[in-house]
Amino acid sequence: MKFTMRCRDLPRRSPGKTVAVIGAGPAGLAAAGHLACMGHSVEVYDMLPEPGGLLLFGIPSFRIPRENVRVGVKELLEMGVRFHVRTLVYCDGHMPEMEGVNMAERVVDFRDIVKSHDAVLIATGTWRSRHLEVPGAELPGVYLALDYLFRIYAHELGYLPGSAVYPTGRRVAVIGGGLTAIDAALEARMQGATDVYVLYRRTANEAPAGKANIERELVRRGVHFVELVSPIGFVGDSRLRAVRLVRMRLGERDASGRPRPEPVPGSEHELEVDTSLVAIGEEPTPPFSNGCTGIALNGDKTVNVDGRFRTTMRGVFAAGDVVHGPSMIGKAMSTGINVALAIDEYLTSGSWRA
Ligand SMILES: Cc1cc2nc3c(=O)[nH]c(=O)nc-3n(C[C@H](O)[C@H](O)[C@H](O)COP(=O)(O)OP(=O)(O)OC[C@H]3O[C@@H](n4cnc5c(N)ncnc54)[C@H](O)[C@@H]3O)c2cc1C
Repeated sequence: MKFTMRCRDLPRRSPGKTVAVIGAGPAGLAAAGHLACMGHSVEVYDMLPEPGGLLLFGIPSFRIPRENVRVGVKELLEMGVRFHVRTLVYCDGHMPEMEGVNMAERVVDFRDIVKSHDAVLIATGTWRSRHLEVPGAELPGVYLALDYLFRIYAHELGYLPGSAVYPTGRRVAVIGGGLTAIDAALEARMQGATDVYVLYRRTANEAPAGKANIERELVRRGVHFVELVSPIGFVGDSRLRAVRLVRMRLGERDASGRPRPEPVPGSEHELEVDTSLVAIGEEPTPPFSNGCTGIALNGDKTVNVDGRFRTTMRGVFAAGDVVHGPSMIGKAMSTGINVALAIDEYLTSGSWRA
């Protein structure tokens, strides 16, 4: 995977300036590559033990071969990009709640990073899974899908022991309709599950993963995609035994433009499963909580940027999923390239005016 696609067209600055990139996913890596192409000195910080972000630690390797990511990172190393892995950047004095954070061995204060570089890029993605707040959600056997996937891939990559991987069981219910739900369902099959159900409260037409993806990736591979059901609880004594569901019907359109799912009274029922994987969305995880740095966040916790990826703090930029919410690799990489151009413009002009 190349993180330097547009290098040949870019000007080379001499002497370059220093840029810190926080987050080594596709957005941060594409930005690092293009900044290095332009002669800037780039330091990349990531809480995980290896650069790649979700490309390595969230997406199955049959979709994104790990070797391709490693070849791209090697090219960045050869260009002089420096990586600080297992390094969490934060500024609140406490560890944030997010997947993968336990892999960090040190914490660097965000404000120190800002002081010691000419520009800073925040590309920290969306590493906090939304929890399902229904009775029984704390039962063993109910897991966050991103956490489930992360543990499998961190183990396959040699960073976690097998004992850290959640047992999959034979019957699995995945809750959600996005890319995480698709990959969790496919991975559960690959881990030995015989019956995998993806439970979604609207229909495939409204699912964020797209109807074509659901048919191609799930239905053809024997996963049951169950439309118009919503979990209202998890049932079991010392461990999950079943997910309790209610049927839904589609009502008026909501603010997102999609028909609002409404419960059908009296339609409650149970689906017996060994494991349930909750994939109802991920939230942005900027390297600070609101107020800690003075950098403005939007209502949905994405970082507030202008048309040139500039945050409300001079010299600090943001790009990738932490700005636009959960998205796609291509979008993260293209914003990574564009933010590199915006950072270079700031570093060469020295101007932060609108
Ligand atoms: C399960 C799953 C499957 C997906 N499948 C696909 C697919 O098939 N095709 C597709 O196009 N897209 C897919 N996506 C979406 C795609 O992976 C993301 O849109 C993309 O990776 C976002 O890139 P990013 O660089 O913004 O963030 P990320 O890839 O999330 O990288 C962010 C990096 O920041 C690091 N980080 C976070 N906080 C800190 C901190 N405080 N300090 C230091 N480091 C930090 C993280 O460790 C991570 O390495 C999938 C997403 C998921 C969750």
